[in-house]
Amino acid sequence: MKDIFCKIIDGEIPSTKVYEDDDVLAILDISQATKGHTLVMPKKHYQDFLSTPAETMHKVYDVAQRIGQAMVGVLGAKGVNVLTNVGEAAGQSVPHFHVHVIPRYTRGEGGFQISMKAQDTSSIDLPRLALTIKEGIK
Ligand code: AMP
Repeated sequence: MKDIFCKIIDGEIPSTKVYEDDDVLAILDISQATKGHTLVMPKKHYQDFLSTPAETMHKVYDVAQRIGQAMVGVLGAKGVNVLTNVGEAAGQSVPHFHVHVIPRYTRGEGGFQISMKAQDTSSIDLPRLALTIKEGIK
């Protein structure tokens, strides 16, 4: 079954387009965490960031960067959050790779907040952890 972004790409569901080329589509997020919140996605279906071929992923991030620059340039954003969720555990709700570009006007405004709370690392062997990840890189 087609996911909702595939339906948007195929013109079966309306969207508010911000950018389009042969490979990439960017639309306004229906939820607008802040004013201008945009989703950038490949037109070809890939489940998520991790399973998207590098060439396509680069095209999506190139457009995300240009949209972020436009948000600062023409929307007056003071900053931008760029993020992609991979998997339900990370909050991905639409199984079609997309990058959120979220303009920020003031810290903590609107419906978007990001916080990374420091955890107690005393029981984590950081060098060993780093090595484990390093050995997993292909
Ligand atoms: P994620 O949770 O990272 O998968 O993000 C999915 C995003 O898609 C959410 O922020 C939704 O608000 C947004 N969304 C869902 N349906 C639509 C739609 N029809 N048009 C635009 N954005 C949508």
